[in-house]
Amino acid sequence: MANRVEYGKIERITGQTFDPVLAFMQAVPAMIAKARNDGWSSAHSYRGFHVAGTAYAINTTDKVAVTESGGNLKRETKGKVCVEKRLDGRLRKSMTDIIGFVVLGTSDQQSIEDVTGLATPTLHLCSDCRQEIPASPIVSPTTLIVHSGLVQDVNQAFTIGQEVGMYARVDKNQVDPLLHDALPDFHDWGARVNTYIKLTGGQEAACAIDLGERQRLAQLALSKTVQS
Ligand SMILES: [Zn+2]
Repeated sequence: MANRVEYGKIERITGQTFDPVLAFMQAVPAMIAKARNDGWSSAHSYRGFHVAGTAYAINTTDKVAVTESGGNLKRETKGKVCVEKRLDGRLRKSMTDIIGFVVLGTSDQQSIEDVTGLATPTLHLCSDCRQEIPASPIVSPTTLIVHSGLVQDVNQAFTIGQEVGMYARVDKNQVDPLLHDALPDFHDWGARVNTYIKLTGGQEAACAIDLGERQRLAQLALSKTVQS
């Protein structure tokens, strides 16, 4: 179900360097639609707790970008496999870097608190994923994660390192207000992408900036801090 783009060819045709962070940001609304379609149908939870997601990953040697969608697996006897782990497991066979995830779950704050320990506007990484996802060879602390609802468009965007760091501080009774900052919809998505382009100075200038730094600028552009 992976959607494959050979960006090496695009670079040869256009003569411009491909920025996978910009491509990810531009793809987010379609990735959400894809997760809601494909991911929903592949999510299995014996207690009806569905989570769907799409990841955008690149292979820097082959110069290929793919989007991969899926759902979580929650079996009564064999335990759970989160969607983040399923996507990472499939992508690490052929990709070198996950640029970003979109993950869609319940918007019910009580159900969210039951999973993460904190009643937040969107479902964040569970405690297992906070350990295992950063340990993946194709995930970096600056890999982006956009959280939204399966039904509601409320959304939050972090880097993996930022989210894991904030939860480590929650364990010490310090709740970062950013964990509760959410945007209500995707209507201003184009403005957020434009903010990223402004922050990086445009496509060619962006490619001279370290990939991780571009992902940090993308997080800023996607967050409430800059948009409101
Ligand atoms: Zn998890």
